[in-house]
Formats: sequence, structure tokens, C-alpha cells
Amino acid sequence: MQKGNDAQETLDPSDWTTTLALAHRMVDEAGCHLRDVRDRPLWQAMPDAVRRSYDAPLPWDPASLAEIWKDLRANLMPYPMGNIHPRFFMWYMGAGTFTGALGEFLAAVEGSNLGGGNNAAPLMDAQVTGWMRQMMGFPESASGTLVDGGSKANIIGLTVARNVMAGVDVREEGVAAIPQPLRFYASDQVHSCHQKAVELLGLGNRALVRVQSDDACRMDLSALAMAIANDRAAGAKPACVIATAGTTNTGAIDDLPRIRDLCRREGLWFHVDGCIGALVTIAPRHRYLVAGIESADSLALDLHKWLHAPFEAGLALVRDRAQHLASFAVHPEYLEEKPRGIAAAEYLYNYGLQTSRGFRALKIWMLLKEHGSTKFGRLIDQNIEQALYFTDLVGAEPSLTLMAPTALNIVCFRYDPGGLDEADLRILNNEIMLRLQEAGIAALSDTTVKGRHCLRMAICNHRTRREDLDLTARELVRIGDECGADISHDAL
Ligand SMILES: *Cc1c(COP(=O)(O)O)cnc(C)c1O
Repeated sequence: MQKGNDAQETLDPSDWTTTLALAHRMVDEAGCHLRDVRDRPLWQAMPDAVRRSYDAPLPWDPASLAEIWKDLRANLMPYPMGNIHPRFFMWYMGAGTFTGALGEFLAAVEGSNLGGGNNAAPLMDAQVTGWMRQMMGFPESASGTLVDGGSKANIIGLTVARNVMAGVDVREEGVAAIPQPLRFYASDQVHSCHQKAVELLGLGNRALVRVQSDDACRMDLSALAMAIANDRAAGAKPACVIATAGTTNTGAIDDLPRIRDLCRREGLWFHVDGCIGALVTIAPRHRYLVAGIESADSLALDLHKWLHAPFEAGLALVRDRAQHLASFAVHPEYLEEKPRGIAAAEYLYNYGLQTSRGFRALKIWMLLKEHGSTKFGRLIDQNIEQALYFTDLVGAEPSLTLMAPTALNIVCFRYDPGGLDEADLRILNNEIMLRLQEAGIAALSDTTVKGRHCLRMAICNHRTRREDLDLTARELVRIGDECGADISHDAL
């Protein structure tokens, strides 16, 4: 057999010196990109040439990293969603950080698979999970797992809830063996991921009972008690209440202590969807809002929201580690734990659905180390106070009307000059929202609260300043006045 290295290839750079020089430039330019985000439009439409660049065929042949970076600078970086911008208030997500980006980079360089192993990265994963458990006031015996986001974190919690409450070994027997249909309860404001969860868990959408919410968009607890009693009478098995700490629509926080007490009394699992509000626990001026969260049986958090970790980062906590493991642990012969060597450690994949896991912990570890958890707490307080400030701006402006009480950091309101019906108000507010986006000024989204359409401003952004809120309110009204004149002539 012929020896020699001619035919042996690798993906490593053939010239490290040139590659590293370019990599330094990429980091410099990426840093400036983030530094100057405020000076660019939040969003801009993509020209046809940019769209067409994504129709390019499969590259059979190589290109230099310098050419690739040039392509990205032309066709990717100028056209972001906009959520790193200080006036992005749509939907609900964090604004990212430079350190988080470095964490993503270093995690990829370090390269470990966080399915588990006897090396440093899994220790860091367990440490971050432990820090989060401590922040949430969960006991040391609780377990947790970093996942890709809040939807997955909720699925983890609800899976454990189903398995504990089913009355049979669901993993072995399947859902068909569950003797009584299980019922999960949440307010009618519950996030849509819970519908997917109960569907995926084989219980069906009907198993998720939407309990009506009160005027403050919180779960109505007498309606909850009634629903539980009715289901019992009808032969179903009430299994779990999903309380939301910060709803996506309005930021409403369900009454956690009373729901916990009801769950204890009735023997139900107490799950909290804390994707928005769980981290309020570390905010000194508002933590009282989420008191009781520490007594959840399972809790879902989103770290790519108020912790501003780059996507993706969520966390599921389960009070009883044994119950958590009993839902997910498997022991295939090719993944035996060993007394020594690389496999001499607890496998982390036994706490969730993934086998291979990314090193999400590193970016979170770096962010918490760099700023300290108290600074994140202060920033959360700052966003909540900014939401109250914007609520005051709405109150002071005759053509703006508040549409739901501001419970946290989400403001629901609409432009209403008077004299228009619901259908026209919807068209008008939709138009204001789109024009604000298209001009790259500010990004708001819309929703429907208690049957009425409104604009929605979620302030989960460490770059936002009060002047951004002033400007957004001012521009809203200006555009509203402009379109209002049009709508009266049916020009929209
Ligand atoms: C964002 C959110 C989710 C879903 O989280 P993802 O990270 O988007 O999967 C679930 N529940 C609530 C209340 C949320 O705000």
C-alpha cells in the first residue's frame, strides 16, 4: 500500500496565519456591527438581488473564507429580524449580547457534546443549571436541563407531569393504557406551545382545558375549581395546572400561591410556564410579583428572553429529580457509564429528549460571570419600569387607549382617534404597525385581547432607553394621524 499524505484531506485551514487574520477582522467588524446597531434602521426590506442570492445552487467547489464573509456582509448582516435593535418590541425575545456571541463561538471551538461525559463542559452545564435552580429558589435536590427554548422546557415539565399522574407506566404501556382521560388546566391566555405539548404527549388538544381569564387576564380561580369538579364528575382525571407567570399577550401573572394551594388540596401537578416572568425572581423591586414560583413541581424558563443569551437557550426545572429521570432515562448498550475515563460521569441526555446536546451552558456561564445576576435583576426592573413609563405616555395621549392593564413589561394599547368601528380600528392599527416596521423606526406586534384588536409592545431589551419609548409613541401618533386621514377617505 502506498504511503504519503497527498490524498489525505482535512477541513482545517491550509494556512492558519491568513485564516486567523481574517477571523480577527470578522470579530472586529461583528463587534462594530453590534456597537452601531442604534444608528441603523431596525429592519429593511430585502432587494431582489439579495433574495436571489439564496437561490444559488449547491456549491460543489470551494470558495475562500474571505469571499464567504463578503457574501455574508452583503446578503445577510444588513437584513436582520431587528431584535438586537433598541426599538424592537415585537413578540417576545431577548436582544442578545456580544459576550453571548463569543460564548457561542468558544462553545463550538471547545466542541464537546453535552450528552454528558467526564470532562469540564458537563460540569459547567451542571453548574449553570444549579445556578438557575438557586435563582428560582428550588431545593438542591431539584434537577434541571438546558434545552433549546421555552417550548421544549414546557414539554419536559408536562411530560413528567403526565407520567407521574397517569396511574400506569406510560413509558411501557403507552397512553392507551391510561385508565381515565387526563386533564391539564391553563388560562385561555396560555402559550400555544402547550397545545403542541398535549398533542405530542398523546393526550389530545381537548385534554388542555382553557380556563377563562378575568379582567386582568389572569386565570379565574373559581372557574378553575369548577372545571376540575366537572371533569371529576364526568370521569376524567384532573392531572395538572399550568400557571403562567407572565402571559405572552399581556404579561399577566396567574395567582401562583393560590394555584399552588389548590393543586396541593386537589392532588394535582403544579407546573409554571415562567418563560417570561420566572426571572423576575431576581429583580429586587418586582420579585414579589412571582412569589410562589419556587414551589412549582416543574418550571419552564427561557434564557434567550430576559437573560439575553443568544438563541437557543431554555431551561426546565423539576422539583423531584427521581421523577425527572424516570421520564427520560434510557440505558443503551453503546452508552454505558464507566468507572474511569471519558464516560465516567452521569449522562445529561437522561434529563431530556436530545441525545447529542450543544454546549449552551458556556454562553450563559460567561454572561452571568461577566455581569453578575444582580445586574440582570436590575435590567429586568428597568424594563418593567419602562413599560409603566410607556403606559403613562399612552395615558397622556388622547388618541391612544390602553387595552389591558400593564402587569409586567408588555403594553397593549391602540390608536383610536374616536368615531371608528372595530373593523376600521383594526385596519388602521395594522397599518400603523406595518409603516413603523417598514420605516425601520420601531417594531411592535399586534394581538387580540378580550376580543379586541390592539398593538402590543413587549419591552425585553437591555438596549432600550426612555427616549426610544418617547420616539416610538410620537411616531405612532404621527403615522396614526396620517393614516387616519386616509382611512376616512377609504384610501387604505
Ligand atoms: C416565549 C414563550 C414560550 C415559548 O418559548 P420559546 O423559547 O419561543 O420556545 C412559552 N411560553 C411563554 C409564556 C412564552 O412567552
